[in-house]
Amino acid sequence: MTDGTKTPDKFTIINELARRRGFFWQSYEIYGGVSGFVTYGFLGAKLKQKIESKLRELFVSKLGILEIESPVISPSKVFEASGHVDHFKEPMVECQKCKKRFRADHLLREFAKISEAEAEKLSLKELKETMEKNEIRCPECSGTFGEPKYFLTMFKTTIGPYSEAVGYGRPEAAQGIFVEFRRLCEMAREKLPFGVIQIGHALRNEISPRQGLIRLREFTIIDLEFFFDPEESDCFLLKNVEGETLRLFLAENKLRGSEEIVEITVKEALEKGYIKAEWQAVFMALAKKLLADLGVPPEKQRFIEKLPWERAHYALQSFDQEVYVERWGWVEVSGHAYRTDYDLKRHMKFSGVDMRVFKEYEKPLEREQAFIKPLMAKLGPIFKTEAAEVAEMISGVDPCEVASSIKKDGYYMLGECKILPEHVEITRRKVKEQGKRFFPHVVEPSFGSDRLVYVALEYAYRIKDDRAILSFPRDIAPMQVGVYPLVSKDGLPEKALQVYRMLLNEGFIVEYDEAGSIGRRYARADEIGIPLGITVDYETLKDNTVTIRDRDSWKQVRTRVIDLPELLHKYFRWKANFEDLGKPFEG
Ligand code: AMP
Repeated sequence: MTDGTKTPDKFTIINELARRRGFFWQSYEIYGGVSGFVTYGFLGAKLKQKIESKLRELFVSKLGILEIESPVISPSKVFEASGHVDHFKEPMVECQKCKKRFRADHLLREFAKISEAEAEKLSLKELKETMEKNEIRCPECSGTFGEPKYFLTMFKTTIGPYSEAVGYGRPEAAQGIFVEFRRLCEMAREKLPFGVIQIGHALRNEISPRQGLIRLREFTIIDLEFFFDPEESDCFLLKNVEGETLRLFLAENKLRGSEEIVEITVKEALEKGYIKAEWQAVFMALAKKLLADLGVPPEKQRFIEKLPWERAHYALQSFDQEVYVERWGWVEVSGHAYRTDYDLKRHMKFSGVDMRVFKEYEKPLEREQAFIKPLMAKLGPIFKTEAAEVAEMISGVDPCEVASSIKKDGYYMLGECKILPEHVEITRRKVKEQGKRFFPHVVEPSFGSDRLVYVALEYAYRIKDDRAILSFPRDIAPMQVGVYPLVSKDGLPEKALQVYRMLLNEGFIVEYDEAGSIGRRYARADEIGIPLGITVDYETLKDNTVTIRDRDSWKQVRTRVIDLPELLHKYFRWKANFEDLGKPFEG
C-alpha cells in the first residue's frame, strides 16, 4: 500500500471476509460481543459440517469406528476420576491497574519470545520472576501484574437445584466415551481393537481468548478413542500407511534447542522408536492426509512431540499436529495422545465397576492350584470362640505362602495366631484357566473442528487479478453451484430458475443469483468459494445447453442441461474433472 498503512494479514482478511459474507462472527454482537464465542452463519455452518463429514467418512464409514453422542454436562465425579479437576488449570495474572486477566505463559510467549515448552515448564514462582525479568506489562494499559495463580478452566455448575450436586461442562468429549466403556465394548462384541468417536461441543473457560476460531470458550471437538490390546500386534491398518512420510519435531531436538524436523516414513518412525504405539502412528498418518485433503500442503504441517511437562496428565506420549498460519505461526489442529489404560483404570477405581475386558486364551491354560481348608476339629479347642473368625481368615490367605512358611518354620503367623500344620489341609489340584481380564490401551486423535475451519479458509484464500477467491477443495465448498441468467430479461431468469430447482432436487447446494452484472456475480461467487457457475444464456433457450464456469481457472465449457445432474455428481465425488464436464456424458 502506498498510503503507509500496513497490509492486513490473512487472519484479519479472513475474519473480515467471514463476517461480511456470513461465514462466522463474534456472538452476542448486539450486547458488545463476548470473546471466545462465535456464531456460524449459513456458509460457515455448511463448511464446518462438510469438514466434519470428511472425518466421519474417514473414520466412521471407512474404518467402522462407532459414533456416539453423550451429554455436555457431567457430574463432578467424572472429572475427579479423569484427573481434570486437579490438572485442568492454567496460570493467570491480573493487571493491578485495569484488572484484566491474562494467561501468564501466553504473555511470555508473545512478549518475551519464550518458547511454549519453556513457558509451560515454569512454576508460579518462576513465572513471576520471568515476567519481572522481561518487564512484561499489561498489553491493555501497561499496568503491572500481581501474583500468578492457577485458574481451573472448566465451567462449573450445579445439576438441578442442589448446590452440592456439582457438575462441569466437559472440556473434552473423551470422558463421555470412557464412562460408557462397558456398553460400548458389548456393542463391539467384546472384540479388540475397536474405536469410538464423538463429535460435539466442548467448553473451556479460556482466560483471555484473542485468536478468533483458534481459541474459543465453546468449540467443537472430535475425540476418537481407539482401544487395543497392548500385548497383541494386530495393527492391520499399518500396511496402508507405513510408506507415508511424517514431519516430526521430536522432543529430544526441542530439548537441545534445535528446530530440526525429521522427515521419516511411518514405518521408520516406529522402528526407531520415535512413535511408541503403532495405532498412534496410523492415526497420525491419516490426520496428515486429512489436512492435505482440506488444502494444507504437507510442508505446512508438522507433528511436534510434547515434552513430559507439556503433556496432559494422562498421556505417555503425545504429538500435536500443527499447521503453519500467517499470523500465529504453528498452531495445533489435532492432538495425538497415547493415553494407555489411564482413564479406564481411574474410572474403575472411582466407580467400582470393572472396566477390564476378558481375553480368552486360544487353548485353556492348565495349571496347578493350591487350596487351603481350615480344620475346625483342631482349631475349635485351641481358638475357642474365635475359631470361626480364624478359619475365615485362613480361607483368605495364599495357600502357597502358608505351605512354604510351615515348611521353613514349622508354623505360619496369621496376625497374632500361630497356625500349625495340623490346623489346615493344603491340597493341589489341576485347574483350567479359560482366559484373563485386562485393561485395553487407548490412543486418541483429537481434532478441533473450528481450527480446521480456520485453516481451510486460510489455505483456500488467494488473489487472482485483484480478486479474492476461496479455492476450497470441491468436496468441502459450502455452496456447490451458482446458477445465473446472463441477463434478467427475455425469459432467461425463468429458464435459470428451472435449472436451479432441478439441481436442488438432485441434492446439490445451489445458489440462484440474478443481481448485477454477470462479472460481479462471478466475483461474489469466487469470494465465497463456489466451485462451479452455471450460466443460462440465449443459446440455452434454443438448444438447452448451458455454460459451466470453473472458479479457479475461470475457464468455461458448454454442456446439455439434461446431463448436468450426473456430471455434477461425478465432479463432486472426484470422479470427473472440470474438462470432463464439457464432454457428452458417457455413463
Ligand atoms: P487438546 O485436548 O487440548 O489437545 O485439544 C484437542 C483439540 O481441540 C486441539 O487440537 C484443537 O484443535 C482443539 N482446541 C483445543 N482448545 C481449543 C479452543 N480453546 N478453541 C478451539 N479449539 C480448541
